[in-house]
Amino acid sequence: MSVETQKETLGFQTEVKQLLHLMIHSLYSNKEIFLRELISNASDAVDKLRFEALSKPELLEGGAELKIRVSFDKDAQTVTLEDNGIGMSREDVITHLGTIAKSGTADFMKNLTGDQKKDSHLIGQFGVGFYSAFIVADQVEVFSRRAGLPASDGVHWSSRGEGEFEVATLEKADRGTRIVLHLKKGEDEFADGYRLRNIIKKYSDHIALPIELPKEQVAVEGEPAPEQEWETVNRASALWTRPRAEVKDEEYQEFYKHIAHDFENPLAWSHNKVEGKLEYNSLLYVPARAPFDLYQREAPRGLKLYVQRVFVMDQAESFLPLYLRFIKGVVDSNDLSLNVSREILQKDPIIDSMKSALTKRVLDMLEKLAKNQPEEYKGFWKNFGQVMKEGPAEDFANKEKIAGLLRFASTSDESGEQSVSLAEYLSRAKEGQDKIYYLTGESYAQVKNSPHLEVFRKKGIEVLLLTDRIDEWLMSYLSDFDGKGFVDVARGDLDLGKLDSEEDKKAQEEVAKDKEGLIERLKTALGDAVSEVRVSHRLTDSPAILAIGEQDLGLQMRQILEASGQKVPDSKPIFEFNPTHPLIGKLDNEQSEERFGELSHILFDQAALAAGDSLKDPAAYVRRLNKLLVELSV
Ligand code: ADP
Ligand code: MG
Repeated sequence: MSVETQKETLGFQTEVKQLLHLMIHSLYSNKEIFLRELISNASDAVDKLRFEALSKPELLEGGAELKIRVSFDKDAQTVTLEDNGIGMSREDVITHLGTIAKSGTADFMKNLTGDQKKDSHLIGQFGVGFYSAFIVADQVEVFSRRAGLPASDGVHWSSRGEGEFEVATLEKADRGTRIVLHLKKGEDEFADGYRLRNIIKKYSDHIALPIELPKEQVAVEGEPAPEQEWETVNRASALWTRPRAEVKDEEYQEFYKHIAHDFENPLAWSHNKVEGKLEYNSLLYVPARAPFDLYQREAPRGLKLYVQRVFVMDQAESFLPLYLRFIKGVVDSNDLSLNVSREILQKDPIIDSMKSALTKRVLDMLEKLAKNQPEEYKGFWKNFGQVMKEGPAEDFANKEKIAGLLRFASTSDESGEQSVSLAEYLSRAKEGQDKIYYLTGESYAQVKNSPHLEVFRKKGIEVLLLTDRIDEWLMSYLSDFDGKGFVDVARGDLDLGKLDSEEDKKAQEEVAKDKEGLIERLKTALGDAVSEVRVSHRLTDSPAILAIGEQDLGLQMRQILEASGQKVPDSKPIFEFNPTHPLIGKLDNEQSEERFGELSHILFDQAALAAGDSLKDPAAYVRRLNKLLVELSV
């Protein structure tokens, strides 16, 4: 037994304490996954060693077979995992097993409510990892040595999972990591060869290196105990190299959890072997849930890259566009060189063609999911819809395909959910309708009652309701779908094309002529506030409405720009009035120009309010309205 030196006691980072607490209380019904997590880490450690040893063969230290060993001691109530992977230095241990390095963790943890039921689903977004050892153990010891460091630089980490851990330096002859779990009272079922074998088969069969358990041996009386023999219990081959037909769904699912560090099953996957000019295997997954850092710029993203079965890097982001950053998976190339770097990946033309092929695979997989499992697709859209909306701007080549995957709220669906596809919309289009109509706004509640929809409701024409912040920007990249142009119903001079009959149009022209006098009076009264005044064809119930100029920024874009402190080009709305509305009739008959002016401004402000805009001078509006109310009551 070597002597421990430089012993110190350190506290876990606050977030680790919170995670530990959450985990122990939310995963009690699924305890056995601790083994999957520890094996997953051991496998990662071996991958890293294999890769580093390509340029520094001395790291292999004589080159014993790379493997993981799991053993147990019924009397001592321990389970031990040992790997001969990359190992950890003293500093590694302190950071990796004492903190959570992911950016945004602290913010994420603030969402904890203290209600275990509510909080337990959060763990799914986070992944469980090393700390899951404390689900079954009340003390965990880690003995490790980083490959390449001398035996005297071994480290011993130990903790009861209650807020602090101890580290000390000690001699460790073999590189790699040994983890000893001291099982809690009542968890003795895990100190059992049969149980361990079953758990490994169930969760870790896909791990590409051998996982060994001690072979049961019968001691013969009077003879010395035979040397311990080991047997491999998993399949130990790289899952993505196996033919699709031979891989079971459960295996795909467990493999996903290993590479994605996720706790839940994926929604869908796509496994492909490409041969010919380029040769590679790919296995791509759609997660069921968005990670908490989906919108964090520096959050890791990308695929796990292998070159001829050898792990080369995590988070290789060059293989997929940014709007597909939530996709997890593996790509294993036969064409790239083993010493490929991130910089090379960014420039290599091979990567470009792989990127477009993989992008297409993902979009195909999503199309299939939408078609065959619409309920699951709804879940997908809730989690990742906003990110998919970044697609048309980033990926021009696949614009039409991405548009087909978009889902919108619509006047045809009272639920307000984003569930209508463009294809579905067009399948319901009216005879003679050759446009896709939409309205953008701040919230569903606001747009669904917008006066802009009146004429559409009257004619029974469906309008898509777009209320995500990104929507107006998205629509600036979409001009048409399936040959039909998009029309913002709040913009320009609404032309319903064939949806208006010849008589309708004639009638409209006549009214416009008839109201020329009123139009002139309104122009004078509203002056600078408007760019134009005209008779509206959009209204049936409301007296007036504000339309946006054809080339002007919409409300959403204006608000986004203003919020980011940018100068917003000045633009004035078009004031449209409804000639059949009694208020407009009254206005037309008003003799006093002063009262006419007051009334026009009230109508203008009301139209702005109904469109979800804020008033430039709310006090003036209130003053005018109150004046009117007083006059009414006398
Ligand atoms: P994750 O695997 O998602 O990174 P974990 O909590 O499972 O998170 O592990 C934390 C870190 O601890 C790992 O990223 C790794 O750096 C280190 N680690 C854990 N187990 C081992 C091991 N057996 N060998 C080397 N490093 C390990
Ligand atoms: Mg892990």
